[in-house]
Amino acid sequence: MGSTDKKLHVVFLPYLAPGHMIPMLNIARLFATAHGVHATIITTTLNAQRFKPTIFSTLNNNITLQTLPFPSTEAGLPEGCENLIDTPNPETTIKIFRAINMLEPQIKTLIHQNRPDCIFSDVLFPWTSDVAAELNIPRLAFSGSGFFNLSLAHAVESYRPQEGVDSDNVQFVVPNLPDRVMLTRSQLPDIVKSETKFSEFFEKLKAAERKSFGMVVNSFYGLESGYADYYRKAMGIKAWHVGPVELFKICEDYKDERGDKECVERHRCLGWLDSKRESSVLYVCFGSLTRFSKAQLMELGCALEDCCCCFIWVVPKELKLGGEEVEEGGEWWLPEGFEERMEESGKGMIIKGWAPQVLILEHPGIGGFLTHCGWNSILEGVAAGLPLITWPIMADQFYNEKLVTQVLKFGVMVGNEDWKIWATEETTLIGRNKIGMAMRRVMGGGDEAEEMKNIAKKLGELAKKAVEEGGSSYNDLNTLIQDIKMCSRFGGLAVRLRPKNLKSAIRSP
Ligand code: UDP
Repeated sequence: MGSTDKKLHVVFLPYLAPGHMIPMLNIARLFATAHGVHATIITTTLNAQRFKPTIFSTLNNNITLQTLPFPSTEAGLPEGCENLIDTPNPETTIKIFRAINMLEPQIKTLIHQNRPDCIFSDVLFPWTSDVAAELNIPRLAFSGSGFFNLSLAHAVESYRPQEGVDSDNVQFVVPNLPDRVMLTRSQLPDIVKSETKFSEFFEKLKAAERKSFGMVVNSFYGLESGYADYYRKAMGIKAWHVGPVELFKICEDYKDERGDKECVERHRCLGWLDSKRESSVLYVCFGSLTRFSKAQLMELGCALEDCCCCFIWVVPKELKLGGEEVEEGGEWWLPEGFEERMEESGKGMIIKGWAPQVLILEHPGIGGFLTHCGWNSILEGVAAGLPLITWPIMADQFYNEKLVTQVLKFGVMVGNEDWKIWATEETTLIGRNKIGMAMRRVMGGGDEAEEMKNIAKKLGELAKKAVEEGGSSYNDLNTLIQDIKMCSRFGGLAVRLRPKNLKSAIRSP
């Protein structure tokens, strides 16, 4: 067998948070099943238990799982806290970050032992670019976000337009982007506004990104073509759009198993949705990491009770330190008698914990999605052809909101102005009237709602086309595999050369 026929071996290193793990595991599955790649996934014991059934239900032997014990005791964490979803407070989040960093030497050793052809690494593991250099193999970076966010982050950091305004709430235009995008300083991540304890780490991320063979993005060209081009040009690195990965047939078959505890709510909520009129239900979910104050949950609950449509509302289970659930002790955060009233009238369903989000969004009963604008949630809303109500909280969410409301215009903002990683009782409340107004604009009918619905529907069709044979993501995935194969064949030569020079270098050795 010639070296070109050798089975490609890629090590996948997902970050320990659902929004990072779910799409990367889908990509690993795609590599293994559709392209015959040997995929080795490295993670910790408890995280492996979370997604093992999902990964191995693909019934193919191209996927290997390698696990490491999580350094809970060393990091001062209780047993069971191995993923950012398990964290009950900001202090624990920091400890989990620290514990993940402690894994570096063991993961390095495992990668060296595996001797793969390529490392597919979350951007939050910047040191993998050095490991790739040591092994003379390419490192692919995966941020879990889209081109719009990557481009906007690059433009804000390069041109610093936020420094030209007098106050945190005055809007400014981000220069040199394909569209007119407006932001306020209060919506920017802390790290952009001042030196923080994470500044050094973010510098490392950026340096590692530039040294990578390229960035793999869970998106499709039709959604953000201008930004896909902008990013590639501005960063000068290669990038492949391979999404929405969830829509590839092989991933579609497993969308009810999403790498977390088995979802017991599936039959209950899909059955409930079957009884509802088409497009009559609003789905409300803030991803896996958002923690609201009780006062804010109360405002949202009141807005939902008053709103013109039915709803499904996913609320995180309250967690004790250690990720253990607090026993159900009544409606500590809801308006009095809320759950019973909603249940009896059939107006609303509350899911405490983990919802089968993709299955819910695809149900014809759903007519809109109130989202925190995590990139996976946005893509899932797009794939389902739904208009959005945007309520960003932190991370890349404010940037993603602008793609939805200012560029593509298939959603409206609730109007949160303040980027804040963890809501406290002091965080500015978004009142029920403001929330209700955004709900009416999307779910209450009328020309504006109709227009957003049409745009969303078209984007949903484009998303499906992108993953079909000959579609932009289908083709880019093939190109990505070919590019890794070329690198594997030509080793260090390919890694050292900029990707755009790769083909010509190979043609004339
Ligand atoms: N998710 C889910 N059920 C839930 C909450 C979240 O399936 O109850 C999934 C959601 O479909 C998405 C991911 O978890 O794929 C969350 O990622 P996203 O980027 O939207 O937000 P994050 O949690 O990273 O803030």
